[in-house]
Amino acid sequence: MPGETGKLIEVALPVPLFQTFTYALDPESERVPVAGSRVVVPLRTGKEIGICLRPADGQPPRKVRRVIDVPDEEPVLNERMLGLCRWMADYYVVPLGVVMRSVLPALLTGVTQPQPSRKTRRVVRIRQDLPTLTQRDKAFTRARQQRTLFELLESLGGASTIDHLLEQLAFSPSVLKGLEKRGLIEVVNEEVDRDPFAARIQKVAPSHVPTPRQRAAIDRLTSANAGEVFLLHGVTGSGKTLVYIELLRKVVQRDGRTAIVLVPEIALTPQTVDRFRAVFGDSIAVLHSALSDGERYDAWLALKRGEKRIAVGARSAVFAPVENLGAIVVDEEHETSYKQGETPRYHAREVAIVRAREEGAVVVLGSATPSLESWVNAEAGRYGLLSLPERVGGGKLPAVEIVDLRARGEQLPPGALQPASPTAVLRERLDTAITQTLSRGEQTILLLNRRGYSAFVQCIDCGNVVVCPNCSITLTHHQAPERLLCHYCGHHEPLDPKCRRCGGRSMRQRGLGTQQVERILCDRFPNARIARMDVDTTSGKWAHAEILDRVESGEVDILLGTQMIAKGLDFPNVTLVGVVDADVGINLPDFRASERCFQLLSQVAGRAGRGEKGGVVLIQTRVPMHHAVVCAVTHDYERFVRAEVTGRENPPYPPLIRLLNIVFSATREKLTADAAIAAGEWIRGLIAAQKLSDVTVVGPAPCPIERIKTRWRWHVLIKSSHAGDIGRLGRYFAERFKAPAGVRVTLDRDPVALL
Ligand SMILES: [Zn+2]
Ligand SMILES: [Zn+2]
Repeated sequence: MPGETGKLIEVALPVPLFQTFTYALDPESERVPVAGSRVVVPLRTGKEIGICLRPADGQPPRKVRRVIDVPDEEPVLNERMLGLCRWMADYYVVPLGVVMRSVLPALLTGVTQPQPSRKTRRVVRIRQDLPTLTQRDKAFTRARQQRTLFELLESLGGASTIDHLLEQLAFSPSVLKGLEKRGLIEVVNEEVDRDPFAARIQKVAPSHVPTPRQRAAIDRLTSANAGEVFLLHGVTGSGKTLVYIELLRKVVQRDGRTAIVLVPEIALTPQTVDRFRAVFGDSIAVLHSALSDGERYDAWLALKRGEKRIAVGARSAVFAPVENLGAIVVDEEHETSYKQGETPRYHAREVAIVRAREEGAVVVLGSATPSLESWVNAEAGRYGLLSLPERVGGGKLPAVEIVDLRARGEQLPPGALQPASPTAVLRERLDTAITQTLSRGEQTILLLNRRGYSAFVQCIDCGNVVVCPNCSITLTHHQAPERLLCHYCGHHEPLDPKCRRCGGRSMRQRGLGTQQVERILCDRFPNARIARMDVDTTSGKWAHAEILDRVESGEVDILLGTQMIAKGLDFPNVTLVGVVDADVGINLPDFRASERCFQLLSQVAGRAGRGEKGGVVLIQTRVPMHHAVVCAVTHDYERFVRAEVTGRENPPYPPLIRLLNIVFSATREKLTADAAIAAGEWIRGLIAAQKLSDVTVVGPAPCPIERIKTRWRWHVLIKSSHAGDIGRLGRYFAERFKAPAGVRVTLDRDPVALL
């Protein structure tokens, strides 16, 4: 009889099955797990870490295996966190054990083992600057690779780890040796800080007096009811952070409760984090992506024990194990990085609202360009709306001008692998503005949301475009080192001057990337100090903060970058923002493409004129009448929303309805298509049988990106205005539809993109 082996418990395990498991407790064991305790249990031939849910009831299975270990004295998840996990499992249609694994730090789930942190690293540093172009040309006459490496180091802030240069960027050691021998660079051993973010100099918090608008928002938030949600719509530079800080002062310092602050990405928002640290000092735990698993666990423990009272971090900080939660701030709530790209595909903003309601905390969603979802909720009265329509200190929003790229300028030259000419890339208006800004000793930010040298390479004889062998994506041309690279799977290959289809020698670069703009800027403004910030220059853990610190201290004249540079930066000496090509991404086959474009343009425009000198924004575009561009120019958020919501009425898209995207993928195309078609029929049958008249099915059809990492992709899109119907249908499908072997099925509820 199973009863003789001891009491039975129900356990959630991180396996892809919609069920829980029954195990028996060892009657000899001293430690008895409660709900939320970790348990080590046998699973098939191995062991797995699970979470005890409750004493098992009902008929126990015939063969019950025994719990091997109960590692902790205290449960790792309290009742409320268990409730939150159940909600996530239910809403996002994910097995409970899989949700729990993503909520806990990796060290507790057995995913990773603690690793000793490396104490030193080998770093390459520039020893001698070559400020003029003449010096540079002379120094590198016959050493092109050396020049490339040297200039790359400059764009990285003058230093990089040797691993990054040799392994990720594939430079040859001989190029490095050459530069070292000539005394231009040096290789040194550098101490690695355990947590360099903790060592950042804490600036004294300036004691701002809130403006009447800020005061009103603060008063409303500090007198809010438990579980209330607010949308704080404040233009760029309107002082949203001060409002957050005053709310936290009340919640944490006066009421003795705890708080969570979510930011899109810690590395990109060092200034925001610094401001919180300046006020709350040691009571903050900063959960950033560069923490080792051990450090992350330390921070988790400090929050759980109440030694730290405020958790600041990206998406997963919403699971910070704080007790007595009083407030959750979601800064830049429109950012898509709040949505997790893998199972469980949760949205941290939605999880924050559910958690806060459960725990009686106040939620503030802050943005200059709120997501349409949040805006519609605020308009309907489900969220309180707080507005900061003016910049603090009497600052004005910058004047924004359009530079029409369709107007006659120099066209791209024909011929083999010719780079774009400077005047085709920086039109006269922008070129002049940069020159003037440099001459005044002020700073420029230039945005181009595409990394690499050129977007793709095409044969002008036969039209052939070089695509990735694993994905249906064009390869991006990169320099330093020169190669064609897939941004989805990392495949790279050398640049072939000959067309592989027709054998012709007329391969041409198409579309600009940040590397090419950097090259053009270096040639055009040889005395300017230029920094480039994109995925390729920021692979080092602290590269973002290092580049931004150099901009702040005035060591950079022109900061060029992808969308990374559009976020909460606040540099008073930046008086010019230029958008090199606003149209990147505006025509993506995704219903949010315009919204993203508007948000990006508005955000980057907001970097200009933060100080007394004011500022100007120049947007180069081929679609000056597009509503995303027009509304960004006029800083008219509400007009954008009206136009955009109208555009999502027919066919209907969120926020007017809810979506569930079911993606099928497999390495064989026919298998993928057949599975998606079978699923589509299955779902239509279910809808008819259940009389779900409000649910519609779109597809099956191939995904806009048909193939990623050698897997073909099809999808079925479910639409409904009833969240409950979508949830029930999703669960019924996930639990009962049997996909053929080899087909992966992923359910993405409230997707942020359909690519
Ligand atoms: Zn060809
Ligand atoms: Zn690829």
